[in-house]
Amino acid sequence: ERVIELRRIQQDSRSAAMLLVLRDVTAETQLHQMQREFLATAAHEMRTPMTSIRGFAGLLLTEAVAPDVQRELIGRIHHQSLRLSQLLNDLLDVSRIEAQGQGGPLVLQDLALESEVQDVLRTLATPEAADRLQLRPAPRPLVVRSHRAKLTQILLNLVSNALKYSRDRVTVTLTFDPAEGCAHIAVRDQGVGLSQAMMSRLFTKFYRVDPDGATQGTGLGLYIARTLAEQLGGRIEVCSELGVGSTFTLTLPLAGPG
Ligand code: ADP
Repeated sequence: ERVIELRRIQQDSRSAAMLLVLRDVTAETQLHQMQREFLATAAHEMRTPMTSIRGFAGLLLTEAVAPDVQRELIGRIHHQSLRLSQLLNDLLDVSRIEAQGQGGPLVLQDLALESEVQDVLRTLATPEAADRLQLRPAPRPLVVRSHRAKLTQILLNLVSNALKYSRDRVTVTLTFDPAEGCAHIAVRDQGVGLSQAMMSRLFTKFYRVDPDGATQGTGLGLYIARTLAEQLGGRIEVCSELGVGSTFTLTLPLAGPG
């Protein structure tokens, strides 16, 4: 359905002439609607942790609670405030990334892929995660034409998801396709996996699958990762089986010979 705006620009009372302008505002109207929906969902997502924080703090202020219960409540407040700040960070990322999409071209540089991936794995290698992370480099060094901060953010999202939604090893494999001039970074886990129906919605904002409430997240990570990959001239594909595991593959342009 198209939305047409009708505007009267000039009217000449003596000759009864009038200048009317018709403008197709369908795209703008859709954009405003998407922004309204995004804001409504974001506010809704923030309400839950806010309500918890207020409730627990109210209890601590008005009730005489035993020290061990106090600690428990403070722990919950801390946990909910972390959730809130993660949500805020992701929301800021989304608005920054969407603004970039309408901005000028990105400034790209040549990056050695293996060392970029290693930096990300080091960032994520908490003592529990360290021995779960495995990197398989390509037979020859790969250089991509990319943007360090954006590449790092994509990798962080994919690898932290692989750790979060599985308990076993996470393998990051670097390969390339010289004919297509691109590098592939495959992040493979043996975790909970995804069904076809889940996969079709995976990259939309706020989509999460967490039936038991066992994991923390905002549902924005993969949306951010895919949008960034597209801005870098690449893409993200997923291959997964429920109960078996998932592979998320990021494809990026290799640097030219010059
Ligand atoms: P978040 O992790 O914050 O919920 P994401 O956008 O990163 O948000 O992921 C969306 C959903 O996709 C997750 O809630 C999870 O259900 C599913 N998902 C993402 N990565 C994986 C994975 N490696 N294995 C299984 N499910 C995943």
